[in-house]
Amino acid sequence: MKKSGGCCLMGTLGVIGGPLLCGMLVFVIAMTTMVGLVSTTLPQPWRKSVESWMLGTPQPVGSETSDNAAAGVGVGWDGYVDPVDTNPPLGIPLGGVPYYGCMFHDTAYSNHTGADFPANVGTPIYTTMAGKVVWAGENGPWGNLVVVENNGYQVWLAHMESIQVDKGQVIPVGELVGTVGTTGNSTGYHLHYGIKQKTDGGQVWLNPEGSFAGAEYVKVECK
Ligand SMILES: [Zn+2]
Repeated sequence: MKKSGGCCLMGTLGVIGGPLLCGMLVFVIAMTTMVGLVSTTLPQPWRKSVESWMLGTPQPVGSETSDNAAAGVGVGWDGYVDPVDTNPPLGIPLGGVPYYGCMFHDTAYSNHTGADFPANVGTPIYTTMAGKVVWAGENGPWGNLVVVENNGYQVWLAHMESIQVDKGQVIPVGELVGTVGTTGNSTGYHLHYGIKQKTDGGQVWLNPEGSFAGAEYVKVECK
């Protein structure tokens, strides 16, 4: 087949549409590439509310630092160990290639205990670990909270819009547990993802970055 000009891999299109179509195609490809290069800018329409939360706005001290036991709604340890899947948390609790904002212990929170993922309201949230749902409901500063426990680990998924599981339910890894919201002590739509580990002396928050790779997300600026 004869290829027209320097146009593209799409020789057939080139023959049919001629130089005009080729030019448009090159333009579209160029624009797509440019958009791809600046994709770390948060997409509208949720950019404004997320920026108010993420980009240097002072946050209430202690908003995500405790299990809220003082309020009488603390999330304790159930002791559940799944008979089949005892793998620790792995991956990101959102589908696709999500945006990832503030780091563990970011400067906007004095005692932040997890990783924050800005996302559209209603975005599905999936558990990164099989286990038993030991909390599913409203919990003070955490808002609508789901906690999944297995083999000495707890996965905390906070500020949800809706919750799709019930307390006491045993779920496999990857199960839909709720959707992204901005409930509790949150000022923009995002998922707070925390991992807690039981220790001999008590418990410790782990850095969730230890359970997912850089290629799995698009980093957004967080001051
Ligand atoms: Zn957070």
